[in-house]
Formats: sequence, C-alpha cells, structure tokens
Amino acid sequence: MRIKESMIGLVPYQPGKPIEDVKRELGLTEVIKLASNENPYGASPHVKEAIMEAYENIAVYPDGYARELRETVAEKLSVKPEQLIFGNGSDDVILILCRSFLTPEDNIVTADPTFSQYRHNAVIEGAKIKEVPLKAGVHDLDAMLEAIDEQTKMVFVCNPNNPTGTYNSSEEFRRFAEKVPEDVLIISDEAYIEYVTANDYPDTLPMLHEFPNLMILRTFSKAYGIAALRVGFGVANEDLIRAIDPGREPFNTNTVAQKAAIAALKDEAFIEECITKNAQEMKKYERFCEKNGFHYFPSQTNFILMDLQKPGSEIFDYLLRRGFITRNGEALGFPTGIRITLGSPEQNDLIISELEKWLVSGVTSV
Ligand SMILES: *Cc1c(COP(=O)(O)O)cnc(C)c1O
Repeated sequence: MRIKESMIGLVPYQPGKPIEDVKRELGLTEVIKLASNENPYGASPHVKEAIMEAYENIAVYPDGYARELRETVAEKLSVKPEQLIFGNGSDDVILILCRSFLTPEDNIVTADPTFSQYRHNAVIEGAKIKEVPLKAGVHDLDAMLEAIDEQTKMVFVCNPNNPTGTYNSSEEFRRFAEKVPEDVLIISDEAYIEYVTANDYPDTLPMLHEFPNLMILRTFSKAYGIAALRVGFGVANEDLIRAIDPGREPFNTNTVAQKAAIAALKDEAFIEECITKNAQEMKKYERFCEKNGFHYFPSQTNFILMDLQKPGSEIFDYLLRRGFITRNGEALGFPTGIRITLGSPEQNDLIISELEKWLVSGVTSV
C-alpha cells in the first residue's frame, strides 16, 4: 500500500491536552481547560430541550440539506437559503473548499501564524502553501496580495485571527478584496464575530453582492457554545455554493446538531450576556499585562495571547500543575507567549492570581 504523497509526514490536528489525561498525570482532581476557545458559560438552556426533542428521531437519517436550520440562519443573516453550505463544524467547510478547488498545481495564500486547518487541508490536496508573516500580529493584507500569483486558488483571511485575536478593518479588507483577482477565492473566517466590539470590523455579508469570489465562514462552536455538536457554515453567492455542494458528505450535519443550532441561534439574550461578560473579563487580563509590563495582542475574541517573557512551555507547565490547560505559545509561533481562553470570572481571577504569584516568587517549572 502506498499512501498519497501529500499525506506523508502529516500529523493529525493537535487538540488542547485532554482534561482526563492531565488529572491522571498530575494527580489533580479539578482541571479547567482554557485552550480551545469554547464558551465557558456553555450553551443556551433551550439547546438542551432541543436535544431531548431531537432524540425522538434518532433512528432516521438527518436532513442532509439541513432545511430548517438553513432557513433560520438565512433569515437571521438576510441571505437566501441557497447562499449557505453547512458543515460538521466550519472545519468541514474548509475541507470541502480545499477538496473542491485545489490540485497539486495550485497554491493557497495564508497568514502565519493563523488557524492550522487551512494549511492542513490544502497540503492533503497536494497544493502549495504561501505563508505571509503577520505584521505586528495582524494579517498583512498588502503582502498577501503580493503573494497571490497565477497558481493561487484561495486566500484565507482569519478575521479576527486565531491565535492573536487581532482583526483587519473594514477599509483594509475592502481595499484587499477589490484587488484580489476574480478567479481567486477569498475566505473570510469569522469564527469569533459574535465577540467583536470594534466599530470598523468589516461587515462582509453585504460585500457578497460585490465580490462573487467571497466566502464567509461562521461557526456554532465558539460563542454559541455547541462545539461538541459540530456545526459551522459558509455563506457565498448561490453559484459558488452550488458548485461546491457535491464535495460535501451527504449527511454532514446531524439531526441533534441541527436542532441545537436552531435553539442556540434563537436565544439572543444568552449570547448577549456571554459577550458582555467576555468583554469584562478581557479587561482583567489586559490590566494584568499592563500592570506588569507584558505585551499582549488586543483581542476581539474570547482568548488572549500574552507575551510573558519566559519560554511558553514554562508558563504552560506552571499553569498546568495548578490545574489550567492553556496553549503554549511555542506551538503557535510565539516562543514566549501563552494563549488563554477566557474562562468564567472565578476561573480568570484564579489564573491571574497564580500568574501574579509566579511573578513574585520567580518559580517556573514547579
Ligand atoms: C475554532 C475555529 C474554527 C473551527 O470551528 P468548528 O468547530 O470547526 O466550527 C474555524 N476557524 C477558526 C479561526 C477557529 O478558531
């Protein structure tokens, strides 16, 4: 047997360390995971009811077209139902896009560092990756434009960017989109849009009329709090959606997930409350950095990347031993950084007080 060449040496996605492993390895009874940008407040209580109801239909295949969810999302975004494609998480939509567009003759343009799945899926299709370094933590859209060549099929703009939490403004994005050649697909990955507070963040939905080569990605995994159920979607013009739809698995979102997503979407009050709390909690981390002279990237998301001026693995281990799973900056392209998903107020207070203690004592890997 010979696996296809592009798969050789590829490693599967590295998720944050599982809670149970950490408990066992370190003999801890309580471990809090703040590594994957999930919603610390969970999901709307209506989601639970929807899941219980969906149980009644568990024996039959789901509606592969996700009609009810499609109509609910279309109405909420004021787009046509035909402008949507659903996926088993937006990861799945990224896979469908790469599968639909890329051959070994092609390349994609991305920022570096950014969300890992753009590269991963493009590599599997045998395409080349042109990575453009962030400029002060932000996508350098001018340099990305320059990186686009005859072989470029897709350009990924993660906005706000994971792992930095930074964003590109409406003006920057528009200027960029106007110059990207029409035969290059622009993907605006907006996984954290619900958390964005910046007034000049791009409103990309109306831009779909102007840019037939624009695809917007959204997810129910972050603010909506149903990461376990895997629902994400793409929004674009109808022709583009029709063209990629055959690349989708027939039942790539399940009945339970569809019903849960509808319930999550309808509970606007719950989301509003999470967003407000997130903004309040973000200030605690910003104050911690400012007080101690640490650089951080101003974040429009529910995570923050801070430069604590020590090897990321030391900070990571220190927090791990105290029961917090975070993300080591070393793995994200920031050797002295740590990325922390904002937790509940109590969790954030605890983590910040542990970091304060660490600063006073100078202890590192104990
Ligand atoms: C989390 C995340 C996704 C993937 O979310 P799904 O759970 O697959 O919907 C996509 N893009 C970015 C930038 C993310 O951080």
